Amino acid sequence: MGTLAGVHLLHCDPFPVPLPEGHPFPMAKYAALRRELEALGCAGRLAAAEEAPIAALEAVHDPDYVAAFVGGTLDRAAERRLGFPWSKELVARCRASTGATLAAAGLALEHGTAGVLAGGTHHAHRGFGAGYCAFNDIAVAAAWLLERRAAERILVVDVDVHQGDGTAAIFADEPRVFTLSLHGARNFPARKAVGDLDVELSDGTEDAAYLAALQPALEEAFARARPDFVFVQGGVDPLHSDHLGRLSVSHDGLEARDAAVLRAARGLPLVWTLGGGYSRPIDGTLAAHVASFRALAKRP
Ligand SMILES: [Zn+2]
Repeated sequence: MGTLAGVHLLHCDPFPVPLPEGHPFPMAKYAALRRELEALGCAGRLAAAEEAPIAALEAVHDPDYVAAFVGGTLDRAAERRLGFPWSKELVARCRASTGATLAAAGLALEHGTAGVLAGGTHHAHRGFGAGYCAFNDIAVAAAWLLERRAAERILVVDVDVHQGDGTAAIFADEPRVFTLSLHGARNFPARKAVGDLDVELSDGTEDAAYLAALQPALEEAFARARPDFVFVQGGVDPLHSDHLGRLSVSHDGLEARDAAVLRAARGLPLVWTLGGGYSRPIDGTLAAHVASFRALAKRP
């Protein structure tokens, strides 16, 4: 197994969020993942994220929504849809998570590869947050690359078990960004957005069917998008042990998935974001995320 020493990674651990007792979101996985990766020897290239500038958020999100979330004036329905109780700490965390993906985009331009131990908040739409996602980090970073003309054609490969509906909707009319999502047909969100390429999987899908759906989707997406920059939302919630996933993919299956994604993106600047993972206990999720970052460190 290779070392992670060479890969630039960003984390958001200086931005903890206080959640009420019993809240279902596994906030503890982030720091635990950082500790595991540090133990693998990547501490030299691991940096704390900074909060994304408001202007970068407003390049993608409705300024009224940004102001309401940052200022704490979201109404109760909007807060429920987001899934987190509002706090100043939550705002800082969500801005930092987006700042991490922005910084990773810059590092990937320079070094080819960067990873984010947060992010992948793909249910955030232009004008509202949903499903634990306040700001769409990948969309913000993609818009920043386009604005700076640092990329001309961007592919978002979203292999989280939930559809990347926010990303798809944000870029529905943006031909320079291609969104691929491979997700559970019956999983959240109930109402799917229309991405450039959506692949729906049945409940209980196992490795062989999962990988058989993935490979042609990757080929089609890369052929149609002809990207010069790739973002990955590498959620590990297709895992059989996942509490929310509804699929039955093994650890080997996820490793084959990650390898296929990285093979398809060979030679292109790439940012890998964390995405979801809700195994109970959380160990299965952590092991799968660690495997993703190990694969990232060895990418061709
Ligand atoms: Zn997910």
